[in-house]
Amino acid sequence: MNDLQMRLSDTLGRGGWLDAGEAGGRTRDWLDRFGEMPLGIARPASTEEVAAIVAACAEAGVPVVPQGGNTGLCGAAVAGQAGAVILTLERMTKVGAADADAGCIEVEAGAVLSDLHSALGATGLIFPLHLGAEGSARIGGLIGTNAGGSHAARYGMMQDLVIGLEAVLADGSVWSGLRAVQKDNAGYQLRKLFCGAEGTLGIVTKAVLRLHPAPARTEAALLALPNAASLIAFGTALRREAGEFVTGLEFFCETGMELVRRHVSGLDLPLESRAPFYLLVELTCGSEKVPLSEILEAALEGGMEAGHVTDGALAMSEAQRAHFWRLREEQPEGQRLEGKQLKHDISVPPGRLAAFLEEAEGICEAALPGVRINPFGHLGDGNVHYNLSPPEGSNDFGDTAQRLGEEIGALAERMGGSFAAEHGLGRSKIALADRLRSETERRAMARIKAALDPEGLMNPGVIVPGDG
Ligand SMILES: Cc1cc2nc3c(=O)[nH]c(=O)nc-3n(C[C@H](O)[C@H](O)[C@H](O)COP(=O)(O)OP(=O)(O)OC[C@H]3O[C@@H](n4cnc5c(N)ncnc54)[C@H](O)[C@@H]3O)c2cc1C
Repeated sequence: MNDLQMRLSDTLGRGGWLDAGEAGGRTRDWLDRFGEMPLGIARPASTEEVAAIVAACAEAGVPVVPQGGNTGLCGAAVAGQAGAVILTLERMTKVGAADADAGCIEVEAGAVLSDLHSALGATGLIFPLHLGAEGSARIGGLIGTNAGGSHAARYGMMQDLVIGLEAVLADGSVWSGLRAVQKDNAGYQLRKLFCGAEGTLGIVTKAVLRLHPAPARTEAALLALPNAASLIAFGTALRREAGEFVTGLEFFCETGMELVRRHVSGLDLPLESRAPFYLLVELTCGSEKVPLSEILEAALEGGMEAGHVTDGALAMSEAQRAHFWRLREEQPEGQRLEGKQLKHDISVPPGRLAAFLEEAEGICEAALPGVRINPFGHLGDGNVHYNLSPPEGSNDFGDTAQRLGEEIGALAERMGGSFAAEHGLGRSKIALADRLRSETERRAMARIKAALDPEGLMNPGVIVPGDG
């Protein structure tokens, strides 16, 4: 053990410090692409312990990498250089009592998202952020990536749901902004700065999160659609007629369904016919009096009359509704089990989705004929996971991976969108950001980083280029 290891181990006590050999899966990222061997894993149990660890590392000039559930898809929660300290919040999981009057709740940053959902149980309140990794992702990581998920079009992303924050800054000082009020314009919005900072500005230790009333009624349908233009037309019509009730508008395609059928058992498509695209629609509302099923049925009929919907099924039970969601949520898993893949998390203004898909297909076909294109995602905010599998029978992208990433990202930017929609930049997209974002934008970000972390020890090599 070196001096720093001994100091951290003494500070954290039994079970609070793990040497690299005991780190298990914490050293490699979810997609197993990144992760150097860390000095060890710090497992603080309080804000004071987080502050002590960060201060000790700052003194020793050793980088610190905050880690939540390690489900991030850009390689940002693992060490970018050997010898860094990974600081996991896994022992800081307290969920406070919901404040019904203020509509908020205070949580520690290590709380797992699904545990927060369960804790709210019968309170009549919900925390409306949902994503496929919610059984592992932690509040600090969700804030660090400014996570979006499937309900973001209605309820916003993480930055819209964080109203108060506590964080340990790079020198070990603690900033407490745990205010339970929406209105707080006393200066720069520091809490927002930490949303999407990917652990590069400090470590989030607690947050006050906005809650919403639990819906009294939920209706869901799974639809088949003939093309991307119909997806947009149906989505727009639905928002016009029932916008205030739309909680889910998730699309996936037949290519992805084929992979799910091949690799994930028990996931049959409950429709009579197959189609190029499928759309999961979910409506919710707080009043029993609103005729939600009639509204959904009318929208469906309208879609069929206009030729945008070719088939559809309404969820007749909670189990059926869960099945519809699983079909959507298992899309990444089906593709992962197929073998090698390229993931692109882009966004475009929703009205340009069809044009994006058409142009992107041209780019892909030109680069690698036969490449299997599997776009799925969140129609409401134009967020497409534009994922690729090699042509049938091959497990290789040859030398096309970088070119495809750049051209697809550049296309999204040209259309007024982003090459990094909800997963962040991490380590995997930093070079791409260097090429696609303006010098002014990159310089502004580098200055923010330098102001809050002058020694560059907070998760170096993430968001802005560094030694990690
Ligand atoms: C199957 C699957 C489905 C997914 N679906 C979605 C989706 O729909 N929408 C979406 O947005 N993402 C999605 N993701 C990505 C991932 O779940 C999110 O990025 C999530 O926010 C990561 O949370 P985490 O706790 O695992 O964070 P980690 O991966 O541990 O960390 C992510 C980043 O946050 C930083 N960080 C962690 N904790 C803290 C802290 N306490 N303070 C400061 N920084 C911190 C890390 O350093 C890192 O930079 C999905 C991932 C998987 C595997």
